[in-house]
Amino acid sequence: MTTTTKYIFVTGGVTSSLGKGIIAASLAKLLQAQGYRTTIQKLDPYINVDPGTLNPYEHGECYVTEDGAETDLDLGHYERFLNTPTSQANNVTTGRIYQSVIEKERRGEFLGKTVQVIPHITDEIKERIQILGKSGDYDIVITEIGGTVGDIESLPYVEAVRQLRWDLGDNNGIVIHLTLVPFLSAAGELKTKPTQHSVKTLMESGIQADILVCRTEHDLPKDLRKKLALFCNVREEAVIQSIDASTIYDVPNLMLQQGLDKVVLKKLALNDSTPDLTRWNEFLKRHKNPKCEITIGLIGKYVELQDSYKSILEAFIHAGAENEVKVNVEPIHSEYINEDNVKLKLGHLQGVLVAPGFGERGIEGKIDAVRFVRENKIPFLGICLGMQMAVIEYSRNVVGLKEANSTEMDPESKYPVISIMEDQKSITDMGGTMRLGAWECNLKPDSIASKVYGSEVISERHRHRYEFNSDFKDQIENAGMLATGVNPETNLVEIVEVKDHPWFVGVQYHPEYKSTVANPHPLFVAFVKAALKNKKK
Ligand code: GLN
Repeated sequence: MTTTTKYIFVTGGVTSSLGKGIIAASLAKLLQAQGYRTTIQKLDPYINVDPGTLNPYEHGECYVTEDGAETDLDLGHYERFLNTPTSQANNVTTGRIYQSVIEKERRGEFLGKTVQVIPHITDEIKERIQILGKSGDYDIVITEIGGTVGDIESLPYVEAVRQLRWDLGDNNGIVIHLTLVPFLSAAGELKTKPTQHSVKTLMESGIQADILVCRTEHDLPKDLRKKLALFCNVREEAVIQSIDASTIYDVPNLMLQQGLDKVVLKKLALNDSTPDLTRWNEFLKRHKNPKCEITIGLIGKYVELQDSYKSILEAFIHAGAENEVKVNVEPIHSEYINEDNVKLKLGHLQGVLVAPGFGERGIEGKIDAVRFVRENKIPFLGICLGMQMAVIEYSRNVVGLKEANSTEMDPESKYPVISIMEDQKSITDMGGTMRLGAWECNLKPDSIASKVYGSEVISERHRHRYEFNSDFKDQIENAGMLATGVNPETNLVEIVEVKDHPWFVGVQYHPEYKSTVANPHPLFVAFVKAALKNKKK
């Protein structure tokens, strides 16, 4: 097989949550910073076709790409690190693999053959891995395999990697294996045995790891690296430690110090130079040296979970660095907010973000929160459901439509100021059927939005079924809530702002998905600025 694209496979062992996604993203950053066109792909061994139907409790945030794919949150890290868009091709699940194979079988494409895991499922996996490589857009494709080696559901992926590495030939495909080196405090020692076992498990499937990345809480001494190298058949320089970092954005530099990029490029027979991390390090410097602090409330119903609002939290880090301010995000559970305690819960905040979400739980608390920040002139950003709640609150408490609601919560609402989109009415399948991906939006001159974006037309990513009901547009606008962003084709209202308020913006789309280290999202940057101004006042 001749190939110009090089492949790096990242597998994990011992335990999940070792930070494979961050290691993949950090390595990609270093390779990109050496001038290699690099992308990252995530293969997920679960049977859901995509994570769109998964509860955030199960799987954290669902990340949406430009082309409207509902994907794993690791793709968010890939985009934030690399500042290049991903697409459906960057995330493949077992569900999608099987769906595609079964569709081919129904079309008769297997010509009477028995369809089997090997070769049909593994062939499909191999094809999906190579889609990005064959596009000609990338020098290097990093493929992260979800789960841990030895899992039953990971087997076809590991076998596909084994075959592909064989097909690709020397120097064209390498395997990085991520493991844990635990510290046993009773013994006062770091332990290599779990790593040895994990490497052995991988070898049982015919794969020899080229590089070991060892997650650890303590520095790995030289003799331990030597031991790992000897017992795991890797060069000593290819035993890389991944020590706990205070921020994920430190990891590229940590990997650089460990020489991960060097070892990778050597194994791939590619030229090695010094990565240019100037912009990245400028960001880090601002991030680590804030001039002051602000606290912003994040109101949602999954706040106890770090991963549920991942992109929002990261967007605040980018926007904080841009403003040279530390943004403390205070998670506040919407279910426990009511009219009586809202002042106590929100009174001390410099800004409030009401989060996206689905369903009825915690809705009234969100509405009480919006009323409080609107009346007390606290900067507000409402995202998707948060924007819808702002429209409902305004309709109820300013326009005077007391029973205003969304038809998502009350299908019989007398004043359905938020209602299901016309083309959603006939849809019965839940998976992949929302209004998804990037859509254009025209901004009204002189609005906060147009100033923030510095442009008249923007494009942002969506994920929703309900929308601002245009039947109420005049009434709501006359009362002082303005539609300042509208889709040019459908006239759907995408942005609302309240006139007599220093900074009150609700957006139907998800700006958080597009915020990156190199390009902090202007809306988050302006929101943080407004919160900072509020603090100084
Ligand atoms: N549940 C709302 C809708 O479907 C909002 C979705 C969201 O916040 N992503 O329109």
